[in-house]
Amino acid sequence: MNIHEYQTKELFRHYDIPVPEGRVVHADAAAAAVAEEMNGERWVIKAQIHAGGRGKGGGVKIAESVEQAQELADELIGMRLVTPQTGPEGRLVQRVLVEQAQEIRQEYYLGLVIDRNSQRITLIASASGGMEIEEVARRDPNAVVREAVDPAVGLLDFQCRKVASRIGLTGKLMPQAVKIMKRLYRCFRDKDALLAEVNPLAVVADDRLMALDAKMSFDSNALFRHPDITDLRDFDEEDAKEVEASGHGLNYIALDGDVGCIVNGAGLAMATMDVITLCGGRPANFLDVGGGASPEKIANAFRIVLEDPNVKVILLNIFAGINRCDWVAEGIVQAIRDQHIEVPVVVRLAGTNVEEGRRILEGSGLDYIKAERLDDAAQKAVAAIGEVSA
Ligand code: ADP
Ligand code: MG
Repeated sequence: MNIHEYQTKELFRHYDIPVPEGRVVHADAAAAAVAEEMNGERWVIKAQIHAGGRGKGGGVKIAESVEQAQELADELIGMRLVTPQTGPEGRLVQRVLVEQAQEIRQEYYLGLVIDRNSQRITLIASASGGMEIEEVARRDPNAVVREAVDPAVGLLDFQCRKVASRIGLTGKLMPQAVKIMKRLYRCFRDKDALLAEVNPLAVVADDRLMALDAKMSFDSNALFRHPDITDLRDFDEEDAKEVEASGHGLNYIALDGDVGCIVNGAGLAMATMDVITLCGGRPANFLDVGGGASPEKIANAFRIVLEDPNVKVILLNIFAGINRCDWVAEGIVQAIRDQHIEVPVVVRLAGTNVEEGRRILEGSGLDYIKAERLDDAAQKAVAAIGEVSA
């Protein structure tokens, strides 16, 4: 789960990680008053969306007066901001962060991620801050410093000093850098984060280090023990279908192909997507209905998959263990009967109560394409798209 920059900065304040003074402003609030209250001569008005690259997309603006702060806030709120990370449709800006503009002398990158190879939280740093770290790593892998953390002892001072010195945070900046790294690590561990990114970590007036941008994302499976983080969830930033699916206990992730998938088990769902791709098709989604799926759950799965207008065929692949093919079949019958489905439906059923499941489907008199195996099902689904569009 991702949160906004202003929320991450609030969290940073609790951990004593220095951030500029700032306040979030919603559509009806007065940005000018907020700027005036904060003092200073210049303010930065920053669009709050769950995507980076806002600076490049025109979502970060400098105001030289409180009047201009208001103008810029009015301009940003309500616009669809397009950045290199949003896709061409952009994201609706519903609030902005108004903060004191800092005089930047140097920008660094500081991040914490979970490195799957070493299975450790890993500190990442670079002297090339302000730019996308993936891009920096592509251009010059040596410009990115990595340091894995041993979970038994945590992030140690000597590691922070080593990283700081390798990116040139020396002298007066070194002890500040060490503190910030350790506090960021504590925050990351405390909150079960998956990612923490400070880009840029900037040297500002009086040689102070400050987090000018802040991004964190959290492990959804650990949210049950962090009600404070769960409260920060912004449903407007998430795919409406994914939110609805999770409400029905379905694990759905939208993709950009046209073969709608309804599968049981995450592994089988991934394999189904692979085989569709092998057969020349493109999955429209990942969907795991889980174990013991009721007919209603299957019918809901159909509804959610069909909310995606790109879907040209549905491939249902159930290998029932805990699931029951007869329940699944009842769900399919309900869905096809009640939802006026206009796309072809390919059904592959195997496992528990499969004979009963097939009987229900055949007895229903409904129109669907039968498949025996997964490759057979995927081929039929891809072929059905060809026939529809021909
Ligand atoms: P994004 O990463 O989405 O583009 P950032 O928060 O990193 O957004 O802002 C883009 C750039 O704007 C930063 O790299 C920094 O140069 C500048 N900036 C951001 N916040 C401030 C601030 N408070 N004062 C001065 N400059 C800022
Ligand atoms: Mg940034």
